[in-house]
Amino acid sequence: MRALVKAAAAPGLELREVPVPEVGINDVLVRVTMTGICGTDLHIHDWDEWAQGAVTPPLTIGHEFVGEVVEVGENVNDFVPGDRVSGEGHLVCGRCRNCMAGRRHLCAATESIGVTRPGAFAEYIALPMTNLWHHDDGIPDEVAAIFDPFGNAVHAALCFRVLGEDVLITGAGPIGQMAAAVVRHAGARHVVVTDVNPQRLDQAKAFGVTRTVDVTRERIADVQAELGMAEGFDVALEMSGDEAALIEALENMAHGGRIALLGIPTERIAIDWTTVVFNMLTLRGIFGREMYETWYAMTVMLQSGLDISPVITHRFPHTDFEEAFATAGDGRAGKVLLDWTTS
Ligand code: NAD
Ligand code: ZN
Repeated sequence: MRALVKAAAAPGLELREVPVPEVGINDVLVRVTMTGICGTDLHIHDWDEWAQGAVTPPLTIGHEFVGEVVEVGENVNDFVPGDRVSGEGHLVCGRCRNCMAGRRHLCAATESIGVTRPGAFAEYIALPMTNLWHHDDGIPDEVAAIFDPFGNAVHAALCFRVLGEDVLITGAGPIGQMAAAVVRHAGARHVVVTDVNPQRLDQAKAFGVTRTVDVTRERIADVQAELGMAEGFDVALEMSGDEAALIEALENMAHGGRIALLGIPTERIAIDWTTVVFNMLTLRGIFGREMYETWYAMTVMLQSGLDISPVITHRFPHTDFEEAFATAGDGRAGKVLLDWTTS
């Protein structure tokens, strides 16, 4: 089969022939139809410091996908050929304290497809049956292909109550945009989204935000005053990984405010902890998705009118992966998809 492989410890990727994965007794083999490119894939493509520490070539990369079941192992009852599925990209150990307690997203021994084991940028992927999600018929393939990052957005956006609350989202990348749509759907009052990139802020406007803020030109505090907010944001979702974004979010929270941290900083960030203490803030790290409560929430929100499809801005045949990666990396695109049904 064809797969997009990090072939050597150097920048770049290769579309090459690799064996179709073996299907263990508890596994499901999926014919991949559509995949999404994530920032993680760009890091692996570019072979930056993080990628060098995390990935051992040769490895098939990619983790955002939708596809069709083509074969199942002998222990598998819940999936049959023809089912439309996506995969939860985090494989958990099943034996640690958190796994045993049903808190699988907190597993201390998580493996990741496309990073520590073969990924989804391929014609086929094999996964344990416990890692598959059946898609509702009403969900379009393109949206199904990005359930992984959509799940990051939902996990962060719904970890604190947002009904009637004022929500600040720092970072209007694909995940920040989807999170804006989710908190709007979930009943937030003001949804304020910041970025340093005007194109990203323009894209965010499609998701019903109250106000976008280009933090190279405006201060969040001034926007609070403009909106008649007296006491600060109740909830913030940090979705940039940027130091200045986190520091400005901390300064704009209401007492008792809650901050979900999803963005991944590349360096240590020093913050004024007295703000956290005296303003009694809650900071919570968010990684991945809850298995499978987040997947359920995504499905039912789509069924009840949430539309995240504007986040998808580009589609390419998988053979044009170089152009697709360049598009995803230039900061102007939203979500970029690769089609694996073309030859
Ligand atoms: P992205 O890089 O496309 O978006 C980040 C956005 O933040 C960009 O638009 C950038 O211009 C903006 N930004 C930079 N500096 C800013 C500032 N000072 N203020 C406001 N915005 C600023 O990334 P994405 O795919 O949308 O993902 C968002 C973040 O979440 C990334 O840091 C990514 O690594 C991280 N992530 C975390 C998880 C997890 O499980 N915790 C999963 C996926 C992605
Ligand atoms: Zn575990």
